[in-house]
Amino acid sequence: MSDLLFPAEPGQRAIARELYGLARDLPLISPHGHVDPAVLADDEPFPDPARLIIVPDHYLTRMLLSQGIPPARLGVPSRTGEPSETDGRAIWRLFADNWHLFRGTPSRLWLERTFETVFGVTTRLAPETADEVYDALAEKLAQPDFRPRALFERFNIEVLATTESPLDDLAAHAKLAADGWGGRVVTTFRPDDVVDMEFEGWAERVGRLGEMAGEDTGTYPGYLAALRSRREAFIAAGATSSDHGHPTARTLCLSEAEAASLFAKGLRGEADAADAETFRAHMLVEFARMSIEDGLVMQLHPGAVRNHNRWLHATHGRDVGGDLPQATEYLHALTPLLDAYGNDPRLRVVVYTLDEYTFSRELAPIAGGYAAIYLGAPWWFLDSPEVLRRFREAVTESAGFYNTAGFVDDTRAFCSIPVRHDVSRRVDAGFLARLVAEHRLPFDEAAETIVDLAYRLPKRVFRLEGDK
Ligand SMILES: [Zn+2]
Repeated sequence: MSDLLFPAEPGQRAIARELYGLARDLPLISPHGHVDPAVLADDEPFPDPARLIIVPDHYLTRMLLSQGIPPARLGVPSRTGEPSETDGRAIWRLFADNWHLFRGTPSRLWLERTFETVFGVTTRLAPETADEVYDALAEKLAQPDFRPRALFERFNIEVLATTESPLDDLAAHAKLAADGWGGRVVTTFRPDDVVDMEFEGWAERVGRLGEMAGEDTGTYPGYLAALRSRREAFIAAGATSSDHGHPTARTLCLSEAEAASLFAKGLRGEADAADAETFRAHMLVEFARMSIEDGLVMQLHPGAVRNHNRWLHATHGRDVGGDLPQATEYLHALTPLLDAYGNDPRLRVVVYTLDEYTFSRELAPIAGGYAAIYLGAPWWFLDSPEVLRRFREAVTESAGFYNTAGFVDDTRAFCSIPVRHDVSRRVDAGFLARLVAEHRLPFDEAAETIVDLAYRLPKRVFRLEGDK
């Protein structure tokens, strides 16, 4: 067994090995992520290594951009008509020439472990080995064992959640359900593009929401009815949670009349940034009410400043590495929601952060004192071995282990799913090993805890226990 990420001190290392051994082969629970469900519905072979691994991964393309290499040279499609590199091998060579930029980063760890454990390729990537690694990966990708469904089974994924807008017709999920393949792939209700008045084309999207749901979204009650109806359709397609990606964690209880008048102002195109923030804040409380009725677990992902790199957004669109984290306040922001429903165990809100200082100052004490709140795993810029470790150190003394929601890989990169979970299991084994070595937790309780963290807890918190 590799000692990757285990404590360097031999006594703790030995305990960590034993604990990790109990979690290593448990099925993967992936309750939040961004894999395209059509990949599994269609089960077509993956494209060439560059188009599979580099082009869609903004962790990689943004690092090269930071050294002056434009995303178009790495094959990222442009929306301005500027040509993008289409030769997979050329993209791969350019990437390999810059591989040193990733020393010490989680991307390096994820990619190396993926090459080795998923593809059996152990040649170390370097400018000189670019072609050798590319050819070895391409050869594997051509084999039937490396199609998406075969990998899903080999990865031992028990459940995989994808993320869709209420405007998605869920056709890929319907296809998956209809064709009898056993893999459990569920959707997640992500309504930001019909809630956020600042989203491009919001009013038109609200109109489409009404058409899909057969409701008149020209009125606020019709809008709420349409959202309820789409939630039902998502639940029928296996969803157990919703996801809310707001700039801040702000919540607010408006009266029905106030909300209706703000909604109408938005549809008229007269809402300003403050109105949009007020409406988002109010809608989080509306969604909490809906969650209490229909049981969807709410996930709140605040703190990303979207499209901060305006040139990148103008040239290549959204989700290509131009977003940045900002300081996020939770206690006062969540107070209206907590006042209304914080002690109601029917409500379950998993709160994430991109601002790690809030783990110990706000989030762990809140999760440690309100029935409705669970702490989400370190996310995005914080999904790294160092922060996963600091997360346990920062939150366990206030919130324990059982107010945390378990690891989420949050990834678009299907082939990286096993390594992401493996890193989290290794880091948790190391943290628990220290508690055992310091005589703060008996080994048998640490052994039970590692299995809970890796498997039982995410399944329970995300209400994934019932089979579809
Ligand atoms: Zn996500």
